[in-house]
Amino acid sequence: MIKLFKTNEEYFNWHEKNQQKTIGFAPTMGNIHNAHLSLLEQALIENEVGIISIYVNPTQFGEGEDFDAYPRTLSDDIEKIKTLESKYNKDIIIYAPRETDIYPQGFTNYLKAHQIAADLEGDLRPTHFDGVVTVVARLFEIIKPHKSYFGKKDYQQLKLIELMAREHYPQVEVKGMPIIREPNGLAMSSRNNYLSPAQKDEALALRNSLLAVSKEIEKGASINEIKELIQNLKTDKKLNYLDLKSAIDFSPLNEIKKPIVILGNYQIGSTRLLDNVEVL
Ligand code: AMP
Repeated sequence: MIKLFKTNEEYFNWHEKNQQKTIGFAPTMGNIHNAHLSLLEQALIENEVGIISIYVNPTQFGEGEDFDAYPRTLSDDIEKIKTLESKYNKDIIIYAPRETDIYPQGFTNYLKAHQIAADLEGDLRPTHFDGVVTVVARLFEIIKPHKSYFGKKDYQQLKLIELMAREHYPQVEVKGMPIIREPNGLAMSSRNNYLSPAQKDEALALRNSLLAVSKEIEKGASINEIKELIQNLKTDKKLNYLDLKSAIDFSPLNEIKKPIVILGNYQIGSTRLLDNVEVL
């Protein structure tokens, strides 16, 4: 059965009566696409109840970013989520709260993201990850999930949420899920809606750069050779960054030591797109 809760009170009433059930939780900002659904599906596979939240979190948007323009499509989202109802025959909860449910008057519990927030996305969006870890902590506090599901598309975010959970919510298991792509290879994103078909093709340059680096690593290139390749690829001025990190703790690499994640951000008009490739 699908339930839609738009206030904490409705959710708390349900939770009180269902304390014994295991809860898998996938937080989203809505404008649901197949990648979001894949997180909810995994939650339903591994738990008795699957919960998906839909909340466009103001504190993770910087000044001049697309908070107002961000697509809000709740009724379409509900229809997409409904397609999973018969497949799993389990309770699905859509939690689409008001701002006052997340940030009640006088809210003070703002968190600071770990130091690995400082570069890459954090460099482009200095307050973004503080807002992300704050809202996820707040959602964990309200929903009380056993397991939570996040996409590897937002790899730096995933690492920061793992660190936040380890410190503040060690009882919640954080799971990183594979990147879901469009047929042409573009990573799915609600922000792809801002792109024309030609721009979607153009955006594939990001994935091609990431794959070029991973191919050289697989072939045994040294860190200096990889750094040189990255410098060459960066002559494409649409690349906001292209870098590689340890896939374990996101530390910078002085040598090629797997597992590695290669991450990039690509500018198409005013839209910034993310993608990454793991070399395991
Ligand atoms: P968002 O609604 O963009 O905040 O994303 C909600 C969740 O879906 C986050 O955990 C994202 O990492 C995840 N997600 C978004 N796009 C993808 C994708 N293409 N593949 C895998 N996970 C994704």
